[in-house]
Amino acid sequence: MKILLAASEAFPFIKTGGLGDVVHSLPLALKQLGHDVRLVLPAYRDVLAGVESPTELGSWMIPGMKRSHKVILLQAHQNGLGDYLYLIHVPALFDRPGNPYVHEEGYDWPDNAERFTVFSRAVAEMARGLPGKKWLPDVIHCHDWQTGLVPAFLSLQQPRPATVFTIHNLAYDGHFSQQNFIDLGLPASWWSVEYVEFYGGLSMLKAGMVFADRVTTVSPTYAKEICTPAFGYRYEGILRSLGTKLSGILNGIDLTIWNPETDTYLAKNYSAKKQCTAGKAKNKQFLLNRAGFNKTVDKTAPLMGFIGRLVEQKGIDMIIRTAPVLFETSNVNMVILGSGHMAYEAEIQQLAEDYPGRLYVHIGYSEELAHQIEAGCDIFLMPSRFEPCGLNQMYSLRYGTLPVVHHTGGLADTVTDAQIDTIKNKTATGFVFYHETDEALREAIQRALVLYTQSSVWKQLCHTAMLSPLGWERSAAEYLKLYRLSMASVAK
Ligand code: ADP
Repeated sequence: MKILLAASEAFPFIKTGGLGDVVHSLPLALKQLGHDVRLVLPAYRDVLAGVESPTELGSWMIPGMKRSHKVILLQAHQNGLGDYLYLIHVPALFDRPGNPYVHEEGYDWPDNAERFTVFSRAVAEMARGLPGKKWLPDVIHCHDWQTGLVPAFLSLQQPRPATVFTIHNLAYDGHFSQQNFIDLGLPASWWSVEYVEFYGGLSMLKAGMVFADRVTTVSPTYAKEICTPAFGYRYEGILRSLGTKLSGILNGIDLTIWNPETDTYLAKNYSAKKQCTAGKAKNKQFLLNRAGFNKTVDKTAPLMGFIGRLVEQKGIDMIIRTAPVLFETSNVNMVILGSGHMAYEAEIQQLAEDYPGRLYVHIGYSEELAHQIEAGCDIFLMPSRFEPCGLNQMYSLRYGTLPVVHHTGGLADTVTDAQIDTIKNKTATGFVFYHETDEALREAIQRALVLYTQSSVWKQLCHTAMLSPLGWERSAAEYLKLYRLSMASVAK
């Protein structure tokens, strides 16, 4: 099958979040399964700086907008990528410093509507055949609102490839004004509730939802949740109307990067079968030292970790309120790594001052510390209010650091709560709470602390967690099934 993935980010070229990880791993997993997979990204300045000698395949004009644009299609040649990576080069729109979506002063780039409309039109153009290559994709898999207009533009082309549109986080929808819609020169008939109009504006996410042959999101539970008002961001009606066109496919993780057996950031490598207890103890000691706790590993003092964006979605406020109770009533220590809202950053730093030697906080981004927390902690906290898929709970499982999670989205789909029956049948991998309250979080942590004292049960849970199937093969196979279904619906 010939598959073109279109997205605004892909590790290692450009990444601002989980989307970049998925767009890195999924095409590689599809390639492994024997398919001809290619990836197209905007030629951001950081991307151009990270690829060697891109060559120009061709160019075309995009007319009909307030400003017309010349689009240059580049192909990157390096790292044995072959025909793998294409870049949409429009210097006026993408060749600028920093973040793909926001100016360094924190506001959205004012021409975002124009930038991602041009990108989407260029991707649709690629479906007519690459200049000098005669390569026609069977399916174009688009990711998030930045590519939402791709299926819309393709609906105007005949013949056309099948389209799959994946929503990574409904909270970001690419919503622009009616004036933007007019300036972009989009077909007037699209300005309707059946198409791209959404509460008086243009929604690029909605364009993807209504025009794609199939719509997916990144976990089965999130696919159900977004059909309800509590999670739907006002899109729940549209999503419900998609019926079986909408489904959830769980993300995998990159098992080569997140592998405690080979991870070069760790003080000691270990696996479920080799050196697990000793390996984790060494990594715990390393982390305690790095945190400046001046403590030796004590089997009665569990270490808890949190990594992530310090925003309400991640339930960081619940951790801030719960931590003092834990410090006062138990022997728990804690490490927090993240950045986000300044108010949360300040509150956490204050907490670390109030509990020296108990709480270590690192405000910022650190790949190295993230790996060391996953390896060195006993318990990982992830009380997200919503979580489309989530990666950290999966890294935690793989590193034998038992996650405490809220029953939502991908957290619900990846962690099996330790209850009498799941412990007995050896399927338990963590601790799940069902209500979004501090009490429910505390109760789940208490259950973890009790089991932590029963070392043979704890060992069994860690073992099961570490052997959970978390790679990309399963997800890639599910996407392939969906590509085939969408191709069949186009052929009809
Ligand atoms: P989201 O995409 O909502 O931020 P995910 O759990 O899906 O959450 O993915 C976040 C990714 O970013 C993970 O790989 C996580 O480890 C990483 N990450 C988040 N914050 C930090 C940080 N401060 N330092 C290192 N890695 C981080």
